[in-house]
Amino acid sequence: MDIKGLIRIIPDFPEKGISFKDITTLLKDGKAVKYVIDEFCEKAKGLDVDIVIGPEARGFIFGTAVAYSLGCGFVPARKPGKLPFDTINAEYVLEYGKNSLEIHSDSISSGQNILIVDDLLATGGTLKTTAKLVEKLKGNVVGIFTLIELDDLKGRDQLQGYNVESLIKYP
Ligand code: 5GP
Repeated sequence: MDIKGLIRIIPDFPEKGISFKDITTLLKDGKAVKYVIDEFCEKAKGLDVDIVIGPEARGFIFGTAVAYSLGCGFVPARKPGKLPFDTINAEYVLEYGKNSLEIHSDSISSGQNILIVDDLLATGGTLKTTAKLVEKLKGNVVGIFTLIELDDLKGRDQLQGYNVESLIKYP
């Protein structure tokens, strides 16, 4: 299925020089959503996933659907100040800007197998930070899956040693 053809490219968003990959045009296509989630779940076979974790906000969309399909739990990694209970925090640098992510300190138990799912791998900062949060709680990161990978930004280099999979690549 040509899922790449369903991604809309927006030049100079949210800043000049950024070529934004808009996934909403894919999300409104039911067959494409099913295809993407099925592909992720196929790649997750044999990983014995206990929990899927997705970074805010687009990681929630794909991550929850993968968790449902695998029959496991979902943990949201949120921007600071959004979670109501005790949290752990890690900082990261974005393709455009700086931020941090938090998860509840009781969201992952030691030894659980954790699959990280997001829409896009750019510099790798978001996903590396998500992996750090998992590892702070002694979870095992068994995979890092994204719909899109931006090759030129070399995010994969930040994630050496992890099982990184993407469905579509751009330069
Ligand atoms: P990174 O931390 O790898 O530099 O950036 C990845 C994060 O930024 C992802 O969570 C993703 O949602 C967001 N992001 C960065 N660029 C884009 C883009 O072009 N399209 C979309 N949909 N998300 C982006």
